[in-house]
Amino acid sequence: MKVKFWGVRGSIATPLTNIELNDKIKKALELALKAGLNAPWQTPQFIEQLPWYIRKTAGGDTTCVEVETGDNRLIFDAGTGIRPLGLNLMRQEIGKPIEASILLSHTHWDHICGLPFFVPAYIPNNNITIYGTHSKIEDRIRHQQDFEYFPVPLDIMRGIKEFVQLREGESFRIGDIEIDTISLYHPGGCTGYKVSYNGKTIIYATDSEYKELSPEPKPIIDFFRDADLVIFDAQYTMLENIEKEDWGHSSTIIGIDMALKAGVKKLAFTHHEPTYSDEKLWDIFQKAQNYLELQSEKNDLQLYLAYEGLSISL
Ligand SMILES: [Zn+2]
Ligand SMILES: [Zn+2]
Repeated sequence: MKVKFWGVRGSIATPLTNIELNDKIKKALELALKAGLNAPWQTPQFIEQLPWYIRKTAGGDTTCVEVETGDNRLIFDAGTGIRPLGLNLMRQEIGKPIEASILLSHTHWDHICGLPFFVPAYIPNNNITIYGTHSKIEDRIRHQQDFEYFPVPLDIMRGIKEFVQLREGESFRIGDIEIDTISLYHPGGCTGYKVSYNGKTIIYATDSEYKELSPEPKPIIDFFRDADLVIFDAQYTMLENIEKEDWGHSSTIIGIDMALKAGVKKLAFTHHEPTYSDEKLWDIFQKAQNYLELQSEKNDLQLYLAYEGLSISL
C-alpha cells in the first residue's frame, strides 16, 4: 500500500504567510553566510542540509490522505487537500475512468469543504463512492452545496455514483480491502478506519481525544493493535490538550503512549493546529522523538511529522 498526504492541517486551511516565508529566507541566508557559501553549485547540497522547518512547510490544506492498493484508491476525508489530489489524478489517469472511494471521518468543514473542488467528481465517466457513518451522510454533503453557500449543486457532480451509509462500528469490504470502523471521541462524533490489505494494516484516526487509557484493555488500543501505520490527530501540545479538554483532539505524547501499548510500527502525526508555524511543529516533533527515546531504548516505533507530499510505502 502507498499512503500520500495531501492535506495535514486541522480546523481551517492555513497558507504560509509572507512573514513566515521571509523568515525562512532570512534564516537560510544567515546560515549560508555562516557556511561560507560562494558558488551556485554548492546550493542544492546546502539546501538539503537546512533544518526541515526552513526548507519545507507542512502545508496549509486541510485533511486529505490517499491510500493506493493494487486495484483500489481510497481517499480519507475531503478537506482542501482533495483539490490538488484531484488535479493530480486528472493528469495521472488521463483518458481513463477514475475509480475512488472517499471515506469521511465526519462532516466538520475541514473534512468536507474541498469536495466541490474535486475535479474528477464532475466527469460522468468516473466512478466515485462516498462512505460515512454519520446520519444522512448524503444530505449533509448535498447541503454544503445548497445555492446559498455554493453556486454548483451536488447533482452536477456526475462522477459521484453512490453514497454508502455505514453504521457505527461496521466492517465492510472494498474490492479485496477489508475495512473496520470505530467511533472516536469528538464533538458530533468521528469515525476511525482500519484498512487491511495484503497482510498490512493502516489506521486513519484523526479528530479524536483519548481519556483514561488505563486500565486496559481499551477498545481503541485493540483497534490499533500491531498496525503498520497509524495516522494520528496530534493537533495540540500536551499542555494545550489539558487546557482544551473536550475539544476533541490529541497530542504527540498520547499518540506515542497508545502506539507503544498497541505495538504499532509507524506513527504519523497530522491534523496540525492552524496557529502553529513550521518551526513550532518541528519543535513539537523533536520533543516527541525525545519522549519516545525516554520510554524505551528497544522499541522500533518510527515517527513521522505529516506534511503535504509525504509518501509512505508499506
Ligand atoms: Zn478536523
Ligand atoms: Zn472535527
